Amino acid sequence: SFSADVVPQAPEDPLFGLMAAFRRDEDPKKVDLGIGAYRDDNAKPWILPVVKKADDIIRNDPNLNHEYLPIAGLTEFTSASQKLILGGDSPALKEKRVTSLQTVSGTGAVHLGALFLAKFYKPDSKRIAYFSDPTWPNHFQIFSNVGLSYKTYPYFSKETKGLDFDGFYNTIQNADEGSIVVLHACAHNPTGVDLTQDQWKKMAELIRAKKHFPFFDTAYQGFASGDLTRDGWAIRYFIEQGFELCIAQSYAKNFGLYGERAGCFHFVTSPSSDAQSTVGRIASQLAILQRSEISNPPAYGARIASLVLNTPELFAQWEEDLRTMSGRIIKMRKALRSKLEELGTPGTWNHITDQIGMFSFTGLSEQQVTKLREDSHVYMTKNGRISMAGLNTKNIDYFAKAVDKAVR
Ligand code: PMP
Repeated sequence: SFSADVVPQAPEDPLFGLMAAFRRDEDPKKVDLGIGAYRDDNAKPWILPVVKKADDIIRNDPNLNHEYLPIAGLTEFTSASQKLILGGDSPALKEKRVTSLQTVSGTGAVHLGALFLAKFYKPDSKRIAYFSDPTWPNHFQIFSNVGLSYKTYPYFSKETKGLDFDGFYNTIQNADEGSIVVLHACAHNPTGVDLTQDQWKKMAELIRAKKHFPFFDTAYQGFASGDLTRDGWAIRYFIEQGFELCIAQSYAKNFGLYGERAGCFHFVTSPSSDAQSTVGRIASQLAILQRSEISNPPAYGARIASLVLNTPELFAQWEEDLRTMSGRIIKMRKALRSKLEELGTPGTWNHITDQIGMFSFTGLSEQQVTKLREDSHVYMTKNGRISMAGLNTKNIDYFAKAVDKAVR
């Protein structure tokens, strides 16, 4: 029988623990570079103006109600999400090879995909999923919760603080045929290091040769470079190449809809004469999984995103808002690098501006991270990752000097 006292204490989630420690700190100079959430130049959460506008429209709609959405979510939302990530003229959409379900943000999409693969992907073999080292730590938990084993591929080079492409390539080459390869579409979390287009092409060729299955996680489209097409390039390239793949899409960062949990899972089958029937069967199974997990997804965030994605004027304003966020972050990257260089802080700092998106992998050691927290009230994860959005014109000098002190 079940005995509750055998349940061991689980460790606190490191990131949410860090947030709590920051809140407890009473020093007015404290700096929060932990969680990946956008902040404006006053270190405050930012509601995108376009989201405010869409929110007002929806709230004042006399037809708004709180009924259940369908199991697969809001159709206008999922079809707009397909177009956003695949491109409006995607061959996969023309050939009706895509099935999509609205999910509980990106986490829910990764989970639904992993659950589906656990149930249907190569049931007779070992089914190893490969994650980048490092990766978003939740990948490990989500995949092991559904019973999939995983390994990692090298990704970050400590020497260059850029991509270890050779290590990545060799590991994927030596992996068992038909492994699942989890790929960050852009703005890799936690490193901010992405493949070049040329490297993506080489990787696609290898993944095809090894018959691996690509699983794209896209949480930063438009947020990384400010350009939705550019940030979606890798996925579109793989689709062009005829891959069968799946995509976990999050609207947390690019719409600032963190707590509203808007996301989408897409499964794309490869081109073939019976692709439409295959995709229909996959859709039917995904619907059963979704039903047993969440019944149907939360409505409000998807309504906001859907209205923006489907209204040309709002879409244009959204692109503007994306440029505001990505532009401010890029400005902070430049400022941080030049301040550290001006201070003559030991080491090289070009990686701060080479990296892209929400995070920078600074190369600071765990010891230096601890020192920054104890001496300067600066909070970041112990792997040396900083959330760039936590920096602003008011605290960047203070932060650069704190880093300088910690490194010397
Ligand atoms: N994948 C990656 C790589 C992420 O960085 C994130 C956001 N931290 C997610 C997925 C999903 O986040 P959410 O569930 O908030 O959409």
